[in-house]
Amino acid sequence: MRVSVAGAGLGGLALAQGLRGAGIEVGVYERDPAITARFQGYRLVLNPVGFDAVRACLPSRWHALLDAIVGDAYGERLVLDPRLNTIGALGPGKTGTVVDRHVLRHLLLTGLTVRTGAALAGYGVLADGKVEARFAHGDPVASDLLVGADGVGSAVRAALSPRTVPTDTGVRFVIGRTALTERFAGLSKAFGSKVAGDGVSLLLGAMRFRTPPKEAAEELAPDVTLPDVRDYVRWAMILPPDGSLGASTPQEAALSRMDGWHPELRELVEQSDPDNSTLLSIRVVEPRERWAPGPVTLLGDAIHATSPTGGNGANTALRDADLLRRNLIEAAEGRRSLLDAVGDYERQMFEYGAEAVRHSLEALPAYVPNRS
Ligand SMILES: Cc1cc2nc3c(=O)[nH]c(=O)nc-3n(C[C@H](O)[C@H](O)[C@H](O)COP(=O)(O)OP(=O)(O)OC[C@H]3O[C@@H](n4cnc5c(N)ncnc54)[C@H](O)[C@@H]3O)c2cc1C
Repeated sequence: MRVSVAGAGLGGLALAQGLRGAGIEVGVYERDPAITARFQGYRLVLNPVGFDAVRACLPSRWHALLDAIVGDAYGERLVLDPRLNTIGALGPGKTGTVVDRHVLRHLLLTGLTVRTGAALAGYGVLADGKVEARFAHGDPVASDLLVGADGVGSAVRAALSPRTVPTDTGVRFVIGRTALTERFAGLSKAFGSKVAGDGVSLLLGAMRFRTPPKEAAEELAPDVTLPDVRDYVRWAMILPPDGSLGASTPQEAALSRMDGWHPELRELVEQSDPDNSTLLSIRVVEPRERWAPGPVTLLGDAIHATSPTGGNGANTALRDADLLRRNLIEAAEGRRSLLDAVGDYERQMFEYGAEAVRHSLEALPAYVPNRS
């Protein structure tokens, strides 16, 4: 069996690792010109389902490394005013495993064959039932299954399920990261909480690695090279619905809305890394319309993109990867047909994927700022 995966995000890479580990031939095709073409290093909170899923996709010899490069999520999930006084609560405290997306992606890339600069442009089903993936540049590739793990703007979805389109929630946010030094120790109350300003909300989350990733790899898995990333605070400012950036850089946009805020909060944004700040829009994809199982399927944000406020997009993409991996191994071993393996995956994925999107949209209003 040969599988082509479009998209080298967390979901596509986890699936590819899992298939590689089972001896199934897999190629990954990524649109970006290089793996590090865009810095995408923000932290993610994984729940036990997402964490166990990515672990199951990785070879067991890397499990100790995985455990070393994560952190523990904690946070009281308070609502604070801009001077850091407690004015409410968002809900029960947050627990889970925190991972840095950039670091995890490097681990997931290790040993895989990834063709970069390979933007999938379409596909065709061949007479023998195989599928041919076609790219904007370069030769087409034939395989038994094409998996569209190409994110919220998925080109695979556009061909497979053209009526499934992203919905823009109108919510925009600026995201950045700042080295976590002693200077910001006083902000710990705000980690995992929401700072409710006038017309904006600021969310802070700490990424504290159990062991610095580069050192952990050198010690625990010499066949893996991980980036030299240190502890940081990820901040995200949610702008008013349909608000514009109103400044030349994301950092300035955030600071311009922080007059009179606690000095450490302002300093945190002032000291953030300009290369890791960006403006993002929250778009969701709701999986509604099933298609007949065939040699093409979808995984992750491509079919169920959630609002990041749900904290479940990566968890669900990793769950997909693990479920599809297990089903495809059964097909490769002749225990079920490929169509049955894909159809069963899609049936389960549609159900929990739709639930994940619903949950994330329900969580969104608590984070969207009030207008004065
Ligand atoms: C700020 C922020 C915080 C978040 N926090 C959390 C969290 O705490 N917990 C959580 O579970 N989730 C979180 N999420 C959501 C999570 O990041 C995503 O749901 C997850 O990364 C989706 O993975 P994916 O593999 O499906 O897609 P992606 O990671 O989007 O990867 C898609 C890949 O496909 C490539 N691609 C696109 N088009 C093509 C094409 N035509 N051909 C080839 N390649 C293509 C892209 O370049 C990209 O590399 C957060 C998201 C953001 C933005």
